[in-house]
Parts: sequence; C-alpha cells; structure tokens
Amino acid sequence: DLQGSSGQDERIFVSVRMRPLNEREIARNDVCDWECINSTTIIFKSNMPDRSLVPTAYTFDRVFGSECHTKQVYEEGAKEIALAAVSGINSSIFAYGQTSSGKTYTMSGVTEYAVADIYEYMNQHKEREFVLKFSALEIYNEAVRDLLSTDSTPLRVLDDPDKGTVVEKLIEETLIDRNHLQELLSICEAQRQIGETSLNESSSRSHQIIRLTVESSTREYSGAGSSSTLTATVNFVDLAGSERASQTLAAGARLKEGSHINRSLLTLGTVVRKLSKGRNGHIPYRDSKLTRILHNSLGGNARTAMICTISPSRSHVEQSRNTLLFASCAK
Ligand code: ADP
Ligand code: MG
Repeated sequence: DLQGSSGQDERIFVSVRMRPLNEREIARNDVCDWECINSTTIIFKSNMPDRSLVPTAYTFDRVFGSECHTKQVYEEGAKEIALAAVSGINSSIFAYGQTSSGKTYTMSGVTEYAVADIYEYMNQHKEREFVLKFSALEIYNEAVRDLLSTDSTPLRVLDDPDKGTVVEKLIEETLIDRNHLQELLSICEAQRQIGETSLNESSSRSHQIIRLTVESSTREYSGAGSSSTLTATVNFVDLAGSERASQTLAAGARLKEGSHINRSLLTLGTVVRKLSKGRNGHIPYRDSKLTRILHNSLGGNARTAMICTISPSRSHVEQSRNTLLFASCAK
C-alpha cells in the first residue's frame, strides 16, 4: 500500500534501489559496503577510516537490494502511483541518483510495466472509452527539446490560463498499441543519442520526461445520460546524474549559473524538500524548467514516487551517501 498507514497519500513515496556490482567492479575486487537488512532499511556495514561513514542505518518506504528485479521495484515502488492516472490523478515517478547507478535501467523497465498495466486496466474497464497519448522531452541546460522531433530547436514553456503550464509545439502521439509505444521509445532513445553526439551533450546532464496522458469518458450507449471525462498525466522522469548537484547541495551554496550546476536538479531538490515538510509556504516551481513542466504533477493533488538508485561499490560510497541523504529529505 503506497498510501502509508496514516493515509497521507500526498506524501512522496521514497524508495532506494541498489544495483549489483558490475563486471568491471568485480574485476577490480571492488566490494559492496551496503546491505538491505529488511524491506525498509539499508545500512552501511563497513568500517571506514573516515569516522563520519561508520555504520549508519537509513530507513525509507522501501529499499530494494541488488537481487531485486525491476518488476518488484515497479510493483512495490511505483505501480499504484503510475496507475493513479487512470482515475484522473496526475502523477510523477522519478529516478534520482549518480550517473551509472541504474536510473535509466530502472525507469525504462518501470515505464514498460506501467504501460502494460494501464492497457490491462483499459481492457478490464470497457464501460469507459480510453485514449492514451504519448509525448517525450529532454531538458538540457534549461533548454527543452522534443524527443519525438528531429528538430532540436528549443521549445518554449508557456503559462496557459486554462491548461496551466504547457510546452509549446510538443508533439503528442495517440498510442495505438504497445508495439507503437516501443516504436516511440526507440525514436526517443535515438534522438537522445543524436543530441549527445552532434550537440556535444551528455545524458548525465540532461533530464528525460516520458509523459502519458490518459483520457477517458463514459460510453454513451443510449445517447442519453451524462458522460464524464477524466484526464490525467503520468510522468516518467529520468533525471540528470545527481553528482551535478550534490556537492553544491551539501555545501549549501546558492544557485548560480554555470555549466557544472544543474538548475533544474537543484530546484527539484528544493521543491521536494519543501513538499515533504508540508504544503505551507512558497514552493519555487517557477525557478526551473523541470519543476515548471511538472508543476501539475508534483505536489497539490498529484502523487509522486522517487526511486533513488545507488551503486553498491566502495568507490562510490560518497555519492551513494549523498543520494541517501537526498532521499531522506524527500520522505
Ligand atoms: P544511469 O542511467 O543512472 O547512468 P544506467 O541505468 O545506464 O545508469 O546503468 C548503468 C549500467 O548498469 C548499465 O549497463 C545498466 O544496464 C546496468 N544496471 C543498472 N542497474 C542494474 C540492475 N539493477 N541490474 C543489472 N544491471 C544494472
Ligand atoms: Mg541514464
């Protein structure tokens, strides 16, 4: 139950996933210093020369050890939140963590399982008529690009009096079936790679958002009676590598322009921390493209899941610790 025992369904559901050691790490005799001791607690189990790292336990809504399959991460950490869209509730699922910790691996699996479940839901609810729409964008250095378009001209983010924040000219494809989804996902992947090579970008510095909009209305068999329409969006967000923000966050430095600072990631951190402390006071959604675009799907009546990915490796222990600290602030 992702709502928690006290029914605080507006809380951010925070989970941590540790990937296995990879071949390179095993080859250099790297070791794993972390252990998931139960379904909610991860501990740092090794004695390190640095006293600040001596055994520490961190507790979250869920922790997933290196043996866990993505299906389990999805079922227990994202499913309910992704499926909120079929009942008209906006939601966002984030992958946060350092580069190579498993964000893309996790988020692409989660997206596919979620779409499969949304299709299953639609098939089981023939009394309603559903339309699924797909769009995808990337934010790099505060420039927004359509991942379904070969045109890399940045898109404008506008405030629409009726629809709220919209990305101007963003392509929205109506999904025909799950094969169509696979096709669109590979177009996005190709566009991402073209960006990396020809525009000299790096995926570790960009944020990718896959958006699915679920529209549904009651079928009007008789032509009489009232029809109700529901529309909601679920966002699958593969964030830039957290190493781009963690030093700055740790140092408490102020946000300033610079290639090594990621405004969207820092602002997301501020927004998430403010949301986790309750909804009072100013929440600076407007300070970055990422938080503006996600405004309607983050906070308010929306549901949010944050999957924080960490590397098991001793050589990444500082970054893993930064990620767990961020995750602790989000819950
Ligand atoms: P990130 O997107 O955070 O930079 P990736 O998702 O690309 O990281 O993962 C880095 C590498 O580790 C990839 O080769 C990926 O296939 C592998 N990997 C990540 N998580 C897992 C996992 N849970 N199990 C097995 N391999 C994983
Ligand atoms: Mg990635």
